Amino acid sequence: MKIAVMPGDGIGPEIVAEAVKVLQALDLRFEMEHALVGGAGYDAHGHPLPDGTLKLAKESDAILFGSVGGPKYDALERHLRPEQGLLQLRKKMELFANLRPAICYEQLTHASSLKPELVAGLDILILRELTGDIYFGQPRGRRTAPDGMFAGAEEAFDTMRYTRPEIERIGHVAFQAARKRSKRVTSVDKANVLDTFHFWREVMTEVGAQYPDVALEHMYVDNAAMQLARAPKQFDVIVTGNMFGDILSDEASVLAGSIGMLPSASLNAGNQGLYEPSHGSAPDIAGKGIANPLATILSAAMMLRYSLNQPQAADQIESAVQHVLAQGLRTADIHSEGTTKVGTAQMGDAVVAALATITKKTTKS
Ligand code: NAD
Repeated sequence: MKIAVMPGDGIGPEIVAEAVKVLQALDLRFEMEHALVGGAGYDAHGHPLPDGTLKLAKESDAILFGSVGGPKYDALERHLRPEQGLLQLRKKMELFANLRPAICYEQLTHASSLKPELVAGLDILILRELTGDIYFGQPRGRRTAPDGMFAGAEEAFDTMRYTRPEIERIGHVAFQAARKRSKRVTSVDKANVLDTFHFWREVMTEVGAQYPDVALEHMYVDNAAMQLARAPKQFDVIVTGNMFGDILSDEASVLAGSIGMLPSASLNAGNQGLYEPSHGSAPDIAGKGIANPLATILSAAMMLRYSLNQPQAADQIESAVQHVLAQGLRTADIHSEGTTKVGTAQMGDAVVAALATITKKTTKS
């Protein structure tokens, strides 16, 4: 099992170090190799995705990724900006399926933006198509503006586009994921207005027919946005396109309390995956040792489940995280009265300690 470790920028190195610590505490053997990406890649090699980093990614079973970006790089040309490191990795590795669970842990219901009873026990999976849609459609551009400039343009446009195979493959991921959960898929579209999403609905229905054990419902994106804020527990798996998924997954992230708790996975057809927290590089707290490492540690658990075929180890890490929350340990972003404030490394150490107890129990039984 080969893991490419890419800490990136800002809090990336601090939180990835904790996830590595947790992986090393498991009774499993990994080959882990570090590489520079994002601003760190630019600083060392003049590019956010240096050749050696891409080569390592391709040779690995999975990538453990921190986060990229920071104000230091804001003035760079677009193709050299740190985010390009991530976008290029997604594209070159064909990571088309983005899985973002939104889970509200019992102990953190108070941190949600909704009333505790609406989110207690929340466990939904948002599946966002990642390599198609309006973000990658052609043609795109502007009219009557000087080259490279928008000032003076009369019009700008981006084209929404999906092909049948693109919809089918994300559909299969959704139905297969639902089979391991509550067997319900909600496909979110805008079929009433957009041809692209009328087509999406038809293809999704065809794919759904191959999974008679999974219930499929269709929902317009405007309604889905409202339902997520009104009664989020009605959902199990939500599957949608790139742009709607971008927006809905961020909406769902606040339901679960802190963004510091939310993992994500991006997979390709060969189950190679990139695993990263849903948040960014948090330059405001970088280097202070106070970032929450749990989203990254939970991303490592997803990596074990989806790319490395180690579901038991994934369960153990998730139980260890629940255990430290039950102990009352909290980083600053989720801290509240009556709980104990800890730093990034202390939180990682606590997960490792909980893991030791859990794995001992599992071995005995
Ligand atoms: P952000 O997610 O980095 O930070 C938003 C807020 O959440 C900040 O107050 C931050 O301190 C807090 N926060 C984030 N993660 C946290 C954690 N683990 N523990 C505690 N608090 C945490 O978003 P932003 O401020 O909009 O962006 C900062 C930089 O990150 C930008 O350069 C942006 O481009 C980049 N970014 C990168 C990714 C990625 O690498 N996938 C994603 C989003 C943003």
